[in-house]
Amino acid sequence: MESVLEKLNRFKLRNTEIRREILTLFLETEYALSHQYIEKKLSTKFDRVTLYRTLKSFEENGLIHRIANDTDTIEYALCKDDCHEQNHKHNDNHAHFRCEKCLKTYCLEHVGIPDLHIPNGFKAQEFQLLVSGVCAKCNQV
Ligand SMILES: [Zn+2]
Ligand SMILES: [Zn+2]
Ligand SMILES: [Zn+2]
Repeated sequence: MESVLEKLNRFKLRNTEIRREILTLFLETEYALSHQYIEKKLSTKFDRVTLYRTLKSFEENGLIHRIANDTDTIEYALCKDDCHEQNHKHNDNHAHFRCEKCLKTYCLEHVGIPDLHIPNGFKAQEFQLLVSGVCAKCNQV
């Protein structure tokens, strides 16, 4: 797997401590991360503004995408590599799964969003598909 440094380098992002820490967290976690979660997990204390800016720059550069879940918390997940190739435009055309037991949100990378017919006069910008239920881990018990 690509290392944190290689990834920062490929996305032409300067290698800073907070970027390394946040990116490591994303690479090591299989579910989506919220601001609060990241803030709690960071070993060194960074202020909120720096954290906010770092997430924003990751999002703008195609490293992570934002997920709308059914709460008012914004969560982010790592993008697949093709987001960067397309001129920094996001191409995360997949569904997300929200587990009602562990409250984690997962990317369903292989579940695409169907072509939806939008009525005339409406201009769609983004499609989100959120599936809720019980995740594979919680379902095992
Ligand atoms: Zn993306
Ligand atoms: Zn679960
Ligand atoms: Zn996703």
